[in-house]
Amino acid sequence: MTETVNNKDRMEEQLVIDKQYKLQERSKAVEIIRKAMDLAREEIPKGKVATYIPELGKVDPHQLGIVVNPLKGEKICMGDYDVRFTMQSVCKVIMLIVALEICGRRNVFKRVGMEPSGEAFDSLVELDVNNSKPYNPLINSGGLALCGLLLPELSFQDILRFTRNICSDPEIDLNEAAYDSEMKTCSRNRSIAYLLESKGIITTEVEDTLRFYTKMCSMSATAETLSNLGVVLANDGVCVETGKRFMSSRTARIAKTLMLTCGMYDGSGTFAIKVGIPTKSGVGGGLLSVSDKRAGIGVFGPALDSQGNSIAGCKLLREISNELRLNLFYDPEWNREEEEENELIKKIRESHVI
Ligand code: GLN
Repeated sequence: MTETVNNKDRMEEQLVIDKQYKLQERSKAVEIIRKAMDLAREEIPKGKVATYIPELGKVDPHQLGIVVNPLKGEKICMGDYDVRFTMQSVCKVIMLIVALEICGRRNVFKRVGMEPSGEAFDSLVELDVNNSKPYNPLINSGGLALCGLLLPELSFQDILRFTRNICSDPEIDLNEAAYDSEMKTCSRNRSIAYLLESKGIITTEVEDTLRFYTKMCSMSATAETLSNLGVVLANDGVCVETGKRFMSSRTARIAKTLMLTCGMYDGSGTFAIKVGIPTKSGVGGGLLSVSDKRAGIGVFGPALDSQGNSIAGCKLLREISNELRLNLFYDPEWNREEEEENELIKKIRESHVI
């Protein structure tokens, strides 16, 4: 009993430290984010916008925006934070939430696994060779499998309404141009969907399922929109302002855990070490991040790295995660240790030991 009380006290103490640092010293946080934005912009030329969906190829790669949305206190918005882009794979978090709430955990995990795939987001090799179901719900095969589960239960309009509500953004809509563009070039997803049908994972009409999935990917969002969704997840599924519950805390926990282990595709492990914030990316350049009990973060940076993750967005999150204490495994020594390590390596080199 005493033990429990002590733990609770300790937790509250941590939150107070956190609050003082992040929220009461807002100007300090703004400064940290501004510096991180400058460093992140330098990464943009190393990335490329997605072109396999021709409409995405038209987006200006130089854009970068972020919103840090703390549980308590004012949002910090910077750069192209209000520019609209398509959610793409970020919507798989919404698919997962809705599927868990409507169809139940057992049904969901009968159709998709909980493991990182270590493969590209649109891979079908491992699905065909090794497995009877997609590795996880946050890759294309997993998203399509969830759509097969959801299609008999809900219309796209239902999902759109839920998305607008949970993101506190009534302007979220279907980007028709992006949708049409993807539908014309989605042979890989079509192959995945038919493979899922052959394995009995999708039992709905394949073309309808593919259209349903692609519409969800083509919903428009902003960095601010994503930060609003992030803060609901950070607050265990409850809207901070209204107190409205959007999902059970169990669903929120599953979503956050899968975002940490699988949200950045085959870059998830590296991202977890370097950034340590559960995050889901999309090839539209969006990143949805959740620093549990602290903040939701939305990022937009359409230039992508080779894994299809926002190149400047990842750098930006990496720069702020430790400084703003958003990392799951916050370590005050992390940066210093790295510098010291470099010094040590330099000394060893200079002494010709190696
Ligand atoms: N709509 C995209 C696709 O299915 C989403 C992929 C992504 O964002 N990684 O290929």
